[in-house]
Amino acid sequence: MLPYRTIADAEAALGRSLTSAEALWFDYSAAKSDYFLYCHNILFLCLIFSLVPLPTVLLQLARPSGFDRFKIQPKVRLSSSEVFKCYKDVMKMFFLVVSPLQLASYPTVKMVGIRTGLPLPSFWEILAQLLIYFMIEDYTNYWLHRWLHCKWGYEKIHRVHHEYTAPIGFAAPYAHWAEILILGIPSFLGPAFVPGHMITLWLWIALRQIEAIDTHSGYDLPWSPAKYIPFYGGADHHDYHHYVGGLSHSNFASVFTYCDFIYGTDKGYRYQKKLLEKMKADQIKEEWRSGDSTRDLKDD
Ligand SMILES: [Zn+2]
Ligand SMILES: [Zn+2]
Repeated sequence: MLPYRTIADAEAALGRSLTSAEALWFDYSAAKSDYFLYCHNILFLCLIFSLVPLPTVLLQLARPSGFDRFKIQPKVRLSSSEVFKCYKDVMKMFFLVVSPLQLASYPTVKMVGIRTGLPLPSFWEILAQLLIYFMIEDYTNYWLHRWLHCKWGYEKIHRVHHEYTAPIGFAAPYAHWAEILILGIPSFLGPAFVPGHMITLWLWIALRQIEAIDTHSGYDLPWSPAKYIPFYGGADHHDYHHYVGGLSHSNFASVFTYCDFIYGTDKGYRYQKKLLEKMKADQIKEEWRSGDSTRDLKDD
């Protein structure tokens, strides 16, 4: 809730006119409690978990021609009832664990100093904070995820997330309730170390989940804008982790690729990638030799 009754009060306190974004924020938030603003995350997460996976899930169900080559594990297809079961299980966990966790974590959010007032942060401040949050999350998640792959952690907790060896977007938040709590810590550390505005927190929680859905989509789409983010792992990187399954000692990082490179946990992935590239090149050469293909090798 803002400590000003009118826009004129806010402008007098700031000593300048409000920007149009600040005027919008004033109109929306002035009479709402900080707790209610924080609880918006529940609605955002519900929409993100339900809607963001849909395009790639529909792609794998409908299988329009030309898209199969972008499916990372093209031989594995889930039926519509399996897809719906995954969504239903995720929503059950959402209402039983994720939402209560959001409701109960408000005192910590208040304690670390997430603010809701004016002035609003600049674009560059939001961008810098989001980058820091992603890096802190990626590093902490990497080690917690590695720990979840120890015998006890895997059998008691993490094997639930690995039930999908060829994941779909809906399977991103599919996990044991204890994993939801444990991996909530890396997401919270960034805002705790570098607290920002409520809008930055909304963006952070939304973008982190959208990123997780992208990395579980099962599709490596060449036109994805995420391809331009340096060191971004994407679907191909994390799909390999699910493909190898419980024995996996590869690709633990949630967002970027550098932790796996630095700590040497991407060797299997890089070996398999090289092998696949070689097999593809050999196949093209073979097709060319036998005259089956009209493809020009120079163009490949
Ligand atoms: Zn894992
Ligand atoms: Zn996963």
